[in-house]
Amino acid sequence: MSKSLKAIRQEIDNINDSILEMLNKRTELIKEITDLKDQNGSEYFDPERETEMMKKVLSKNSGPLYNELIREVFSAIFSTSLKFMGISRQKKLLVSSSSNACFKSINEMFGLGNNEPVIIAGPCAVETPEYLETIAKHLRDKNIRFIRAGAYKPRSSPYDFQGLKENGLKILQDVSKRYGLFSITEVVDTRDVNLVTQYVDILQIGARNMQNFELLKEVGKTNHPVLLKRGISATIQELMLAAEYIALKGNNKIILCERGIRTYETKTRNTLDISSIPIIKKETHLPIVADISHSLGRKDIVNNIAKAVLAAGADGIMVEVHPIPELALSDSKQQLNLSEFDDMLDFIKR
Ligand code: PEP
Ligand code: MN
Repeated sequence: MSKSLKAIRQEIDNINDSILEMLNKRTELIKEITDLKDQNGSEYFDPERETEMMKKVLSKNSGPLYNELIREVFSAIFSTSLKFMGISRQKKLLVSSSSNACFKSINEMFGLGNNEPVIIAGPCAVETPEYLETIAKHLRDKNIRFIRAGAYKPRSSPYDFQGLKENGLKILQDVSKRYGLFSITEVVDTRDVNLVTQYVDILQIGARNMQNFELLKEVGKTNHPVLLKRGISATIQELMLAAEYIALKGNNKIILCERGIRTYETKTRNTLDISSIPIIKKETHLPIVADISHSLGRKDIVNNIAKAVLAAGADGIMVEVHPIPELALSDSKQQLNLSEFDDMLDFIKR
């Protein structure tokens, strides 16, 4: 007498249970391989090994399942294992929210009590002591704690203003000290890291250097907070991995910065990826600010965008401010004058 449908289904259920159990047993072994590979930093994907395993499996197939279907099933198993390894590695990142490494909030880094959004403002570049003085005085009067200004400017054209270098650092240090402001400036070369740390409070890694791994390691060796900007065409994952380079050297004072990415859109200089902000907050332990000036390349819409990035969960804003933006030696179109800056502050408070 043939078996009933119910009985066959029961057998199939039992086999499903066994397959599940075997898959998890297999995954326990994959975990061991993941640990071994992590220890010596080798690639998870080993195409030769996969081809060899598939050959073995197919040579043992006595049917009734056809070889091409067996191939499909095992391809899925192999790629699931790879995904499992990838997710495990992601969870092991120091900067990942599932790691127990300890990172500081911006307020903790600077001993600031409140949890108000941080405003980092200042000119694109240090140009003259007088300009910087005017800005610093204004920032202090507005209770802003951070001043930015570039001394080493990464310019698209080698014929454009390249920054005042060490003289610029000296001006920034003098002005920021006198006005009680924390200073931030970009460092573009491993050879300058030591020098720049002597003059400023925060080292900035610019978008063009986000994947300059030697530079990341070098700033990772310092005890200075590092503001790491997202690369012009970098994914969020690549930004996190860049931060991991810094963290691996022992520096736990990392601030990420979303500053827009290159897209086909031409109405703004870059496309501000606002969704990166809550994603970073969810997937990492790191604070993140949004540079609304370099994202937009224009200033007529900064107020709304400033509000939007804060609503998205950013810990702060970076914005370029210049006493006479029309005369600025770089990024003149996007820099706010002092009254436009005040308007922005009023607008985000509203
Ligand atoms: C800057 O902040 O001065 C700068 C050059 O920005 P980015 O690296 O984001 O282009
Ligand atoms: Mn600029």
